[in-house]
Amino acid sequence: MTQGNMPLRAKVATQVSRTAAALSRAAGRGDGSVIGGWIGLKIDPDLLEHLAAGRAIALVSGTNGKTTTTRLTAAALGVLGPVATNSFGANMPTGHTSALAKAGATPYAVLEVDEHYLPQVIEETRPRVVALLNLSRDQLDRAKEVAMMAQLWRTTLAKHPEVALVANADDPMIVWAAGNSPTVSWFSAGQRWQDDSWVCPECGSTIERQDGQWWCTGCPLRRPAPQWVVEDDGVLDPSGAWHLIRLQLPGRVNLGNAATALAVAAAFGIRPLQAVPTLSSVASVAGRYAQVDRDGRNIRLLLAKNPASWLEAFDMADNAPTLLSINARDPDGLDTSWLFDVDFAPLRGRQVLITGDRAFDLAVRLDVNDVPFRHVRSFGEAIASVPPGRLEVIANYTAFQDIRAELDRVN
Ligand SMILES: [Zn+2]
Repeated sequence: MTQGNMPLRAKVATQVSRTAAALSRAAGRGDGSVIGGWIGLKIDPDLLEHLAAGRAIALVSGTNGKTTTTRLTAAALGVLGPVATNSFGANMPTGHTSALAKAGATPYAVLEVDEHYLPQVIEETRPRVVALLNLSRDQLDRAKEVAMMAQLWRTTLAKHPEVALVANADDPMIVWAAGNSPTVSWFSAGQRWQDDSWVCPECGSTIERQDGQWWCTGCPLRRPAPQWVVEDDGVLDPSGAWHLIRLQLPGRVNLGNAATALAVAAAFGIRPLQAVPTLSSVASVAGRYAQVDRDGRNIRLLLAKNPASWLEAFDMADNAPTLLSINARDPDGLDTSWLFDVDFAPLRGRQVLITGDRAFDLAVRLDVNDVPFRHVRSFGEAIASVPPGRLEVIANYTAFQDIRAELDRVN
């Protein structure tokens, strides 16, 4: 169904949704996608279904990396034609509704989906491809959710054999969730964080790991052979051809995101040779990896919102002075004891500064790991404390927003 032959109610809802989003933007209240989608869905509860009909859609979900992977995938699918996408990271149905309403009748859409909403969004958008990146806990108080989420995905995906999956072979939770689907393209980018998947989701036995392989000691669940593999600074495709990947985004984890984007593109019939050049067009993603020059310092912002992404941030950061900032406000989770699950030893030898509401918790943690540090009260003080050159900033969610706001004020 194209927008031209949508029911009248859906057409009105689409128009009102666009207008509300535009008004909210004009009032300076963010990009308006949540309020626009919310109003549209109030008028027509089936609006997302109506807007999705007639488009070839890819959904991207998982705990980490979905915003970046969505951007890379949208860039790759762009070789086929216009692509609608929720590029502001509004990843619940209100955001999807708003993104599709705003984009008009595009033939393609790539949507980032919050992992809790994936079953609902699969039902409503009938995607051609779903990319499953990883499942780990977002915060300590959500630890039990990992297995429940994998179960929920598995049940939903089993009901949709028509959906082609692109899934992470290195994450046992993902492999199990995808286990009943007939069409799976497996990718491998390594799994640095393994603490949430050492018990088999199928039988409860221990999962063992060696040389990049993993297997359950009590049942046949084991790592499938991947078709897309990160190797050196490139990606091996299913034919065995290796492609050099040039990204503006740092770290091996983003090479993994690029491999995922190439696999999704291939499911839409796009060859890697066509897709690879588009990936280098993606620079910062919603301010993450953004680089700002100030007083002779090149400041790079890395968001780290949960244990898995802290390890990734250490890997992405250059060997340069590093500012760590942690808050524990509502969006971050109130409990910071997860800090003790992350190994801060990679920071040894760097000049380390700490700040944020919970700088004291960081101080204790760094002390245990024998990493010398200095506490600073403001971002300005941090800049004054480091020599000209690169300053890496690693912060959790609201701390990241605080620093972005401070940088915006100064620039
Ligand atoms: Zn097992």
